[in-house]
Amino acid sequence: MSHRLAVVVPTPAHSSISGPLSYLSELPLAPGTLVRVPLGKREVLGVVWDDGDLPENERTEANTKSIAGALQGVAPLDGAWIQLVAFSSLYYRRGLGEVALAALPPQLRDLTTVQLARRLKRPPDAPAEEPSDRAPELTPEQRTALGAFEESGGPFLLFGATGSGKTEVYLHAVQSLLARDPQAQALVMVPEINLTPQLQERFVERFGAGNVTAMNSGMTHPQRLKSWLAAHTGAARIVLGTRMSVFASMPHLKLIVVDEEHDPSYKQQEGARYSARDLAIYRGKLTGAKVLLGSATPSLESWQATDKGRYQRLVMASRVGQGRLPSVRLVDMNLQPKQTVFSVQLLEAIQQRIARGEQSLIFLNRRGYAPVLACTACDWKSECPNCSAFRVFHKIDRTLRCHHCGYTERVPRACPSCGNVDIAPVGRGTERLEEHLGELLADVKQANGEAVRIARMDADSTRIKGALEQQLARMHAGDVDVLVGTQMVTKGHDFRRITLVAALNADSALFSSDFRAPERLFGLLMQAAGRAGRDAAQAEASEMWVQTWHPQHPLFAALRRHDYPAFAAQQLKEREQAGMPPFGFQALVRAEARTQEAAQAFLNTASSAAQSVEGADRVTLYSAVPMSIQRVANVERAQMLVESPSRAALQRFLAGWQPVLQAAREKGVIRWAVDVDPLAI
Ligand code: ADP
Ligand code: ZN
Ligand code: ZN
Repeated sequence: MSHRLAVVVPTPAHSSISGPLSYLSELPLAPGTLVRVPLGKREVLGVVWDDGDLPENERTEANTKSIAGALQGVAPLDGAWIQLVAFSSLYYRRGLGEVALAALPPQLRDLTTVQLARRLKRPPDAPAEEPSDRAPELTPEQRTALGAFEESGGPFLLFGATGSGKTEVYLHAVQSLLARDPQAQALVMVPEINLTPQLQERFVERFGAGNVTAMNSGMTHPQRLKSWLAAHTGAARIVLGTRMSVFASMPHLKLIVVDEEHDPSYKQQEGARYSARDLAIYRGKLTGAKVLLGSATPSLESWQATDKGRYQRLVMASRVGQGRLPSVRLVDMNLQPKQTVFSVQLLEAIQQRIARGEQSLIFLNRRGYAPVLACTACDWKSECPNCSAFRVFHKIDRTLRCHHCGYTERVPRACPSCGNVDIAPVGRGTERLEEHLGELLADVKQANGEAVRIARMDADSTRIKGALEQQLARMHAGDVDVLVGTQMVTKGHDFRRITLVAALNADSALFSSDFRAPERLFGLLMQAAGRAGRDAAQAEASEMWVQTWHPQHPLFAALRRHDYPAFAAQQLKEREQAGMPPFGFQALVRAEARTQEAAQAFLNTASSAAQSVEGADRVTLYSAVPMSIQRVANVERAQMLVESPSRAALQRFLAGWQPVLQAAREKGVIRWAVDVDPLAI
């Protein structure tokens, strides 16, 4: 006798099959069992689902195929995992199969039972270290925070200043959990791959390598498989990962930490556009795991949740030891000579640091040499032929590179339009800043009489594997006097010798059309400031410099006082008046097409047809507009904002609207996608 199974398989987004398919099996298989099944001409990995989820037509399908085999060696995924995936698929309006299979290591499919058995039996690696007992004594603030954490259920928001020792709180929370419960597992998430090695080191040192496994998109397929199995079997007590790890199968999950919870990297930007932070909260509710979010500059969503008492706020206001937050100095660029890059005052302050053997960090959020190359005789500029954007000039290899589609060319010898040989860079990126600083400091010497050492850290300088680690090591060893970098350098790093941080060109975000721009800028500047003065011995003299054309802007007043709560209160008031998140709820529908007209027509057609969708009266649909970078790789892009004062109402509407969007096939439309709770509007 054969059993009919519901199996979730990798199906393309928006295909008519979005639910499980039915297959036959000789043996009854429990939900969560991993199976190999035929799909079209391929054999794919699938997950046995609850057969109640089988669509009507699939239940009665006459010529149902049989599964090719089950992965007998692997325990079925648990009910909580299945529910997490099902919820993500529904909430973010993406196919079940796509979400489920993206959460599993691709190599699972190809494993034979024998290989699996061998992998599962393999003894722990020999580079395994013994845990150390070197936990420092907690500060009173850390003790209070941990006490409150142990006493109630959460979710918690640890609002701790940069350098207040949040990581130590995470370590202790994990430690007491593991000691209390011999099976319990903890998931610790960080926003950036770059930050995992540093954190991993601290966890391995504390808990031993055998207990800790990493999970991120930078890993090879075999590595992913290995860490997935370690988590799934419970062998790894601690999983450290980026956003994807929120889907890790962890049968004994009891604690989820989301470090730097405000970071936009927690939002997936393609496929199912999930927020790993929000899913962490959901997963906690589902499994009873405690959730601990941490940040010095929380997202306004999380901050408001603590205002309303939905999350519990834990506060650590001061830095560990005698460390102090740097004093903030604003330079009014209106009073500087035209074309000033470094004001005299700032340059002097940097020179003082060099003389004292301290480090400075200069932060500019633009990589490359110059954002535009322009002809001095005609109006030619280095536009990308495929995108509505300029190609960036990279002097190092004399190329023009499009940061959107990747189109790269050698810099032309002369203007392609008029033949003039005088084409010049306009504006500046980190590469040019590094060069410029080198010229300004050419005659300056360190205390030992040697030349000043300047380094740069951005996506270009760290492209080669190991480069970032090397640069960080140089920083920590004190082999760099001034570090120039993009926002990559502002996040999380525990630099001990920096006493000056300077932000150049922060102003553009003050007047952005994106309502989240001030929140992001404030967070970025606070985080940047957080890199300075971490060492008590030098904290006294630590400074954060901001060069701005708008020194009177209220954002800077709050920054000067390191007053996140005041800034948040003011922003939340504005958001409430405007009905914007977290007081309102949003989704974006984005469409890509051959022409802008087609992209917009698709959205507008779907919008007109939306009036008949249930719940349409509780949502507002705005008109279709071109996206801020309208054309990328010769594809035109448009978007439409959907808003509602109620999350549930928005969800109901989106569910009803989905088939309408699916039916609204407009000629020339290449693809479309829904982004629920979008971060960039
Ligand atoms: P945050 O994540 O809040 O910015 P960290 O966890 O990186 O701060 O801690 C800042 C520094 O203080 C680190 O070098 C850390 O080792 C140290 N530290 C943290 N807690 C303690 C403590 N209780 N005693 C001594 N040093 C500590
Ligand atoms: Zn020209
Ligand atoms: Zn391009």
